[in-house]
This record gives sequence, C-alpha cells and structure tokens, in this order.
Amino acid sequence: MFADLIQRWEELLASGPLPVIRQVDLPGEGPLVVLRQAAARVGAPRILLSAGIHGDEPAGTECLYEKIKQDRLSPAVEWIIVPFLNPGGLRMGTRENPRGLDLNREFLRDQTVEIGFYKETIPAQGPYDLMLSLHEDWEFQGSYLYEINTGKRPSMAEGILNLLAAETGLAEAEVIDDHKPILPGLIVHDPVADEPENWPEAIFMIHQQPLLSYTLETPSQAPLPKRVQCMHGVIDYCAERLVCETGR
Ligand SMILES: [Zn+2]
Repeated sequence: MFADLIQRWEELLASGPLPVIRQVDLPGEGPLVVLRQAAARVGAPRILLSAGIHGDEPAGTECLYEKIKQDRLSPAVEWIIVPFLNPGGLRMGTRENPRGLDLNREFLRDQTVEIGFYKETIPAQGPYDLMLSLHEDWEFQGSYLYEINTGKRPSMAEGILNLLAAETGLAEAEVIDDHKPILPGLIVHDPVADEPENWPEAIFMIHQQPLLSYTLETPSQAPLPKRVQCMHGVIDYCAERLVCETGR
C-alpha cells in the first residue's frame, strides 16, 4: 500500500544522502537502515528519531524522507535516524510485519530480525538527550502525545501540544489507550510497560539510559500532508528547545 514510499527511500539511500550506520536487507521487503547526521559542533545534543514500526502509519517515514532529501534537519543537533523498521508492513499497509507480529510489542523478546537489528544498533549509538518516536492513530480526530521523562530534563510537552493543536487539533477523549490524559492530548507515562511481556520501543530505550521520550500520534483521518507537516514542526521544535536548554 505504501510500496512507493519504500521505493523512494531505496532510491534516496542509493544516492548516499547521509552516512549509514548499519543496513540489513530483508529480501522482498526492503532495507532496515540506521542513518546518522553529525552535528556542526562537537558535544551537540543527540536526538533519536524513529518511525515506521507500524506499516499502516506512513506519515513519520514520509516526514523523515523529506527531512533528509531536502536537507532540513538542524545541524545544531546530532541525529540518529531509524526511518522505518517495518518495510514489509509499509509495503502492504499493515500494522504488523509480514510475519504477523506487532513489532512495537516485541522489544523484550529476541524473535524478530527487525527488533534484533534495532537492539544491536541503537543503544550503542547513544546516549541520547531525547527520543522522538513518530506514530499515527485511526481512533481519534486529533493528535496526542506520550511523555516518559527519566532524563531529568524540562518537559517540552506544552510546546509540542501547541504545535499539534494548531496543525491537527488535539485528541479530546477522556481516556486514550486506557490512559487518562493529564492535559488534552498529553499522556504522561510511567517508565513501565502496560503489558509486562510486550515492551514497546520507548520502554526498551528507557531501560537503556535515563531519557526524555516522546511518542507522537497524529490522526490518520487527517490528510497526509497535514500529518507530515505536524511532524516536521515537532522535530524542529524539539531540536531548538534542546539546543537552548543544554547550551551545547
Ligand atoms: Zn503506531
């Protein structure tokens, strides 16, 4: 369903836009790849950007394609980028990978090539000052945000929510995925998995290092360019805030 997106990514990767930290090809599906954009200055803050773990959520992968193709990532930050972790699912437009697994519940186990690839590559590139994981949701008309903060950094949630409110509006439900938002569209989550055996990416990373982590969910019902725009804004905002706050 989003096969053209993977195809465009393959063409972009072939043009060598950024150094590849690691690449593994899944035959018939596409590459797993981690990219790095160095910062202009030594000691700059480091952000982990991740998207495309659910194959029915193309906006994050599309946004990162534009960011890299158009050279739009801030040089004030070092970026470690996982543009998609489920190329087979994206091709088919399914949440799960072609083996029928929800990869964002597989981080405690070691039974998938995709998550094995992530676990062997991403923690070793840290420590990260911020993690931003880009998702989408069919269930709500507005965007929402998960925050986990063990990194002792000031929260960026309010600024992010302002951006989301302006672009797509915020999810107004009183309960979102069994969580009660503390503000419209904001779920502050403990560093503990909802289902003890089924760890998502953010919980895995929180167990690697103290971290400020945001999982962004834009509404699949909104037009794709709007969702992509929303993600551009959040990425840029987080980079700017981090540079300001760390003074690095
Ligand atoms: Zn998702």
